Amino acid sequence: MEAVTIILDGVEVSGYSGMTILELARESGVDIPTLCDDPYLTPIGACRLCLVEDERSGALLASCVAPITPGMVISTRSPRVIERRKTIIKLMLASHPDSCLVCDKGNRCQLREIASEMGIGQVEFQRIPQSGAIEEVNPFIERDLSKCILCAKCIRADHELVVEGAIDYIDRGSAAKPATLNDMPLEKSECTFCGTCVAMCPTGALMEKGRTYGGTTTTTVNTVCPFCGCGCGICLEVKDNRLMRVRPSAESPVNHGTLCVRGCYGYDFVHSSERLTSPLVKIDGDFQAVSWEQALDRVATEFKQIKEKHGSDSLAILGSSKCTNEENYLLQRLARGVLGTNNIDNGSRLYSSASRVGLGWSIGFPGTTSSLAELEQSGVIIVIGANPVTSAPAVGYAIKRAVRYKGAKLVLVDPRETKLARFAHLWLRPKLGTDVALINGLTKVIIDEGLFDEEFVTRRTDNFTKLARSLKTYTPEYVEKTTGVPTQDVQLAARLFAGAERASIVYGNGITQHVTGTDSVVALANVAMLTGNTGHRGGGIFALQWENNAQGACDMGSLPDLLPGYQDIDDIQTRKNFEECWGACLPTNAGLTALEMIEQAREGKVKGMLIVGENPALSFPNSSLVKKALASLDFLVVADMFLTETANLAAVVLPAASFAEKEGTFTNFEGRVQRVRKAIEPLGDSLPDWEIIVQLAGRMGYPMPYSSPQQVMDEIKELVPLYQRLAYTDFETEELDWADLESGRLGTRRLYKGAFPSGFGRFSPVEYTPPTNVSGNGYPLTLLSGSILYHFGSGSRSLRASRLKKFSPHGWVEINQADAKRLGFSDGDVVKVISPVGEVTTTVRVTDTLPSGMLFMPMSFPESPVTELFDITLDPRAKTPALKGCAVRLERISADD
Ligand code: SF4
Ligand code: SF4
Ligand code: SF4
Repeated sequence: MEAVTIILDGVEVSGYSGMTILELARESGVDIPTLCDDPYLTPIGACRLCLVEDERSGALLASCVAPITPGMVISTRSPRVIERRKTIIKLMLASHPDSCLVCDKGNRCQLREIASEMGIGQVEFQRIPQSGAIEEVNPFIERDLSKCILCAKCIRADHELVVEGAIDYIDRGSAAKPATLNDMPLEKSECTFCGTCVAMCPTGALMEKGRTYGGTTTTTVNTVCPFCGCGCGICLEVKDNRLMRVRPSAESPVNHGTLCVRGCYGYDFVHSSERLTSPLVKIDGDFQAVSWEQALDRVATEFKQIKEKHGSDSLAILGSSKCTNEENYLLQRLARGVLGTNNIDNGSRLYSSASRVGLGWSIGFPGTTSSLAELEQSGVIIVIGANPVTSAPAVGYAIKRAVRYKGAKLVLVDPRETKLARFAHLWLRPKLGTDVALINGLTKVIIDEGLFDEEFVTRRTDNFTKLARSLKTYTPEYVEKTTGVPTQDVQLAARLFAGAERASIVYGNGITQHVTGTDSVVALANVAMLTGNTGHRGGGIFALQWENNAQGACDMGSLPDLLPGYQDIDDIQTRKNFEECWGACLPTNAGLTALEMIEQAREGKVKGMLIVGENPALSFPNSSLVKKALASLDFLVVADMFLTETANLAAVVLPAASFAEKEGTFTNFEGRVQRVRKAIEPLGDSLPDWEIIVQLAGRMGYPMPYSSPQQVMDEIKELVPLYQRLAYTDFETEELDWADLESGRLGTRRLYKGAFPSGFGRFSPVEYTPPTNVSGNGYPLTLLSGSILYHFGSGSRSLRASRLKKFSPHGWVEINQADAKRLGFSDGDVVKVISPVGEVTTTVRVTDTLPSGMLFMPMSFPESPVTELFDITLDPRAKTPALKGCAVRLERISADD
């Protein structure tokens, strides 16, 4: 870029060609007021407040859209400029309601702030009355367009950042306003209530709804969203030990000033009246509040007795992919160093183990290979078995931006029509459970047509010939017959992907929650390696993670077969390092995975369990059986924020602090390690999980030497090579990701640019095996389970977030229009969904987004738990239960039922 020098307020400053005057002024520390500019939005010069004077021509220029040109002499504070800015503000105030004292925007209003900085106190111009009702029917956003200054930030945020297209200007001249199509209410539009426009609106025209005016917040704390694995940066605004508001962190490299409805409006579960505020012990079937001493003494005594009587492996810990890295590290230390067992697993077993096993096998690393920013630079993106629009909205935004604004082509593989279908260049709708056949079909086309990256394959990978030979049966005819996807579409997808300079694969639970999940992941890794897309800028494999710290929980060794940092439990030196540090002898046999713990509890082999922040009684398949198994334990202790379905079965319940009440780190799906900061004191007597673990270990006669999460991270850095370069101070200023850790340099964004951790990427043939869980034998329909935007996981938090609950209070089952007509069902009918293992009652929604013969039910609703319908069937390698699809039938509930 060419350097350009100008005179700015009498000082010579240099920028580069294409830079605007406003950008250069900011870079030079010169403040220019503006109400319509935002670093994440395209500048449009709408408010004109950023006017500056070009002293050579005398022209007044809107500095946000005027590029610098050599020799410019710019004044940002000339009398003409100041006068003009004052006039603009006065005009805005003249058409603004006189409601500052009661406006919730209050001291955050940028219009008011700029007016006061300019010394404008009273409106001198004749008032221009504004009409328009306040819109506040939906539970999230209140719109009072009488306060709108037509800056178009909301419209640009909606179009450019979250790419929903929910709002635009309607009407003209003085009647112009930002509104939905035909000015219908937001809840009837495409709006997803992400709150991005609200956070950007400079006035009280758009505000968070659902709270009464609470005055000016006193503290703002930068932390990380506690819901999905995207790990969006959020700012918690706090007053009187209460979270008042959440807004997107402007600096976060993950979310670029955006959030989704969960992150923006779901935080009030923290203050739910259902929060546990003291330890509970079950006496004669009823819970009674006790002191921490009493509760922890009881837990320590019971665990010691079980260990002495039945051995260490009769105990098990299920940790949480919602807890911090430090807490997960301590949990596995508690299991290995104190209880003496490798029976430690975490909730991500339900969805991410196939990635860990499959990618670990193929490319030597168990996670996403690239960053979100690079995904957005891809020329072609395959999204398969994932609906990021609901499960990982920040990823959904990035994909939509790539397609809409950067020329990327999206190949969507999904039997169900999701919002992404509108952005797809090519949409493949395979039959459920046929992913391996489809991916092998793509691979064969790429090889047969010579589209693969020969140099990459030769230099960086192994086993190519074996892979090529294994694909003989995956002829176009076979793949079309098996998957239902037309041959020309398979060929087109393969050619598009292989032909792109940078191509990415995004997958999620639709791939991993099948018994063939690991096979599918390996098959996807084959495609990525064949085309050299595991080391390019802009290309990679993106394994979406469900919960906020699924990646971190696994990194921290909350796994039965691996020590922290995926270090082998059989490696003598590694074991020695931990043993010396912990002063304990570590168990050598691999432990039980989550579902195996349940199985062994049922068989009476596992006698005691600690479950932290997970709700297996609802989230695991065959939940009736899981509940029975948990109830049959000699001793169950649960640490949670709420009395969940699982906690209800426990002998002791320990009240855990929320994400907003503790320090630590989360690692997002990219591998980005981010600081979690305490914003408020823990509610009641609740404690952060790390403190609970330390206190419990001490009571079991094994004091742990930590008085802060930072000390835990210091030990992690010592013992876990993957995290060796981390320090709390680094997080303040720099982002770190896997590539940084691998290369030892900051700023690198590619994994495996040089070599795979195991030397070569390993092609592996995988054979398609037909699914056994599809319709037939009296169950003529196939049920697909999945995520929705307005709730999360088992709903234990999102259903206690008042606005999310109000907007989406109950579950439902979706059915294709033709099937509904054939079977005689209509919207709102109450039905039983019956599978070979269970049945749930819910209401019907008729839709045109499903193929015939398929139903869809959202997870997250305890009153109609989808998991009740699934048997426990595990992926043999990942031990992940199949939770995506099963055979069902529908029965109408008669009035007598
Ligand atoms: S509603 Fe707010 S963000 Fe949108 S145009 Fe009006 S003032 Fe700007
Ligand atoms: S809340 Fe989000 S989706 Fe709705 S209009 Fe605003 S930016 Fe668009
Ligand atoms: S995308 Fe995920 S991390 Fe970001 S705000 Fe939404 S739930 Fe939170």
